[in-house]
Amino acid sequence: MKLIVLGNYGPYPKAGGACSGFLLDSGNVKILIDCGSGVVSRLQQHIDIEDLSLVLLSHLHSDHAGDMLTLGYAVDIKMKKGSIANPIKVYAPAEPEAELKRITERKAFEVIKIDENPEVEIGDMRIAFKKMKHGSENFAISIEKNNRKFVYSGDTMPCEELVEFAMGADLFLCEAGLLERDEKSMRAMHLTAKEAGETASKAHVRRLLLTHFLPDIKIEHYMKEASSVYNGIMEIAGENKAYFI
Ligand SMILES: [Zn+2]
Ligand SMILES: [Zn+2]
Repeated sequence: MKLIVLGNYGPYPKAGGACSGFLLDSGNVKILIDCGSGVVSRLQQHIDIEDLSLVLLSHLHSDHAGDMLTLGYAVDIKMKKGSIANPIKVYAPAEPEAELKRITERKAFEVIKIDENPEVEIGDMRIAFKKMKHGSENFAISIEKNNRKFVYSGDTMPCEELVEFAMGADLFLCEAGLLERDEKSMRAMHLTAKEAGETASKAHVRRLLLTHFLPDIKIEHYMKEASSVYNGIMEIAGENKAYFI
């Protein structure tokens, strides 16, 4: 499996950047994980929208799902022109209801509520979801194929559920929406970079990829905090970079 980072900012992108969006490509199956602002543009730098198999949304905050309506326009037009035959399947949290409705209303999508389908099989891939702790209902996502495991945190406060869910992951993509030094003023239902490192350490993951950065903070600060508590292989999720799992 190959993970391509389409966007790594939150809750808003830097100039020319994009918010959360990741393409998991296993050859015949191409999964878009989150679809924040700027992601539809980035996605097309890597694949045609016609080739998209599935969309998974960790949660419905705009920095993770804001480009869904734009994706809906693209799929709609392509369905009318005949280059896409069926609506694209979207796995999403049921809450907030008003946000989900904006997506379910679109003919371009067949929406499946995650809480009613916590496990999915597609080809030889197994997808699982686990509810985390965030301001909006958020699910961490794991995808396994051939004994290789990828886990994405979505947005969450630190919790044991995430440690358990990420246990032994070959690649753990974890949000680091805050820095420890800002935590007191900005506590906003996110992990600090240090907490991301602690989670990765407790979960004995093979490789940690940090994401969800504020545009005006230097990347080195995130790395410094996380590496103070995590000794494994760690990288910043680089926009348009590919990571093999
Ligand atoms: Zn976010
Ligand atoms: Zn969020």
